[in-house]
Amino acid sequence: MSLSVQAPLGLLGGTFDPVHNAHIALAHAAMRELGLSGVRWIPSGQPGHRNAPATPVEHRLAMLRLAIAGEPRFTLDEADALSAMPTYTVNTLARLRAELGPDVPLVFIIGADQLAALDTWRDWRRLFDSTHIAVAERPGYPVERERLPAPVAAELATREAATLGNGSGNAPAGRILRFAMAPLDVSATAIRSALASGTSSTLSGLPLPPPVLSHIQSHALYRNTTP
Ligand code: ATP
Repeated sequence: MSLSVQAPLGLLGGTFDPVHNAHIALAHAAMRELGLSGVRWIPSGQPGHRNAPATPVEHRLAMLRLAIAGEPRFTLDEADALSAMPTYTVNTLARLRAELGPDVPLVFIIGADQLAALDTWRDWRRLFDSTHIAVAERPGYPVERERLPAPVAAELATREAATLGNGSGNAPAGRILRFAMAPLDVSATAIRSALASGTSSTLSGLPLPPPVLSHIQSHALYRNTTP
């Protein structure tokens, strides 16, 4: 595979129900540690491999727009969110390759919980035809080979690399990298639970960008929901 001189582009998929401070920190850490030109945020509509998000897609998109507004290197990719069909990352990557061409290095950013579940994703080994995967530490999910499902550990053993390329360029796809991120014990599940039961004084302390919390409050989201 020939090396590319184009700067790598980060991709951050998720349900973002809601987007929270650890997502923002994850994107910034990946840009900094991996030299990404930016991060394209790709909220799912109906994810193929997990339960559908409780919150209507319009609200999840609105919260993401508010959360990324101040950072010009962050962009929002709405195609999967607006798709009428369930979406799978392997298909999303094929769409992006068709749009961006074969050469630009793509880096799919995940938290360590997602690495441990990677072999449950549809056609997961084919992901590496289109992208690198970069894994950040997440509390409770150690990235140790012996703690991962055997197929994922085997893939990590052959694909793990310290860098995307060498001094003359970056590979477009195919590697697994770990990168440093100050661990943040934050999850959308815990936030949804706090929003369902919280009082307005406790809500202001939630790890959410302030405009996202305002949106949640003005639209009365996450009331009476099961996390
Ligand atoms: P939920 O609690 O609903 O499962 P979540 O907080 O994990 O949601 P997602 O939208 O599922 O959020 O996550 C999108 C991506 O962000 C995933 O790759 C996930 O691993 C990563 N991520 C989420 N929270 C953290 C965190 N605290 N540290 C590192 N990565 C995180």
